[in-house]
Amino acid sequence: MGRVTATERRAVLLAGAGLALAAGCANRNAVAHPGHSSGSAPARPALSGNLPAQLTHGPRDRPRVALTFHGGGDPGTARAVLAEAEKHGARLTVLAVGTWLDAHPDLARRIRDGGHDLGNHTLRHLDINAMSEAEARAEIAGCAERLERLTGSVGSWFRPSRSPTASPLVTRLAQEAGYPHVLSYDVDSLDFTSPGAAAVARKVLAEIREGSVVSLHFGYDDTVAALPVVLEELDRRGLAAVTTTELFS
Ligand SMILES: [Zn+2]
Repeated sequence: MGRVTATERRAVLLAGAGLALAAGCANRNAVAHPGHSSGSAPARPALSGNLPAQLTHGPRDRPRVALTFHGGGDPGTARAVLAEAEKHGARLTVLAVGTWLDAHPDLARRIRDGGHDLGNHTLRHLDINAMSEAEARAEIAGCAERLERLTGSVGSWFRPSRSPTASPLVTRLAQEAGYPHVLSYDVDSLDFTSPGAAAVARKVLAEIREGSVVSLHFGYDDTVAALPVVLEELDRRGLAAVTTTELFS
């Protein structure tokens, strides 16, 4: 195979993003996966030992990455992202906002049925590190209660709202609620700033490497459009997009 110049690479990214934009629009009204109830609660993840309470990335010596999503916003973008990931054999991690689950309860099962990780991103997505202990506890518990009711499990992961990292207090509260590890990230796609699909893909692909945990968001068209470009390039680099549970197992 010949070498691909930076200009050619950029052209491919832009072309891919354009195609994906059209696909994203087409998928916007896709119906939700019917979702069968399997009943049994998932097993706790078998994590490798001695992990810190707050995780920013997985092992750097294995060709695996985790694409993690803020579970909020337009459910059409969520369904489009999930369908695209599944087309590529990729598995995602969705950190769901509790009020988003109230508005779209079917998505909890949709995510789990697709083989993705589902976790807790607080009840209302407020600045949890600035809250009192009682308020922060209620934010974590409120989302955990919804996850448990909808899927039979509080999920494996907690991510704080409005901050990449959790304060020591919030970390302790998350652990008390059943989340041994707070999930941060080492690659920020900045997709929530709507910089254009090509910019989202470029930033992720410039920074992602073995073990990376990437922060992405449902609710933004740029993310939907960038995802096929990112997944194709990950394939080319031999990096598998796996659940966070798998990344750390
Ligand atoms: Zn968020």
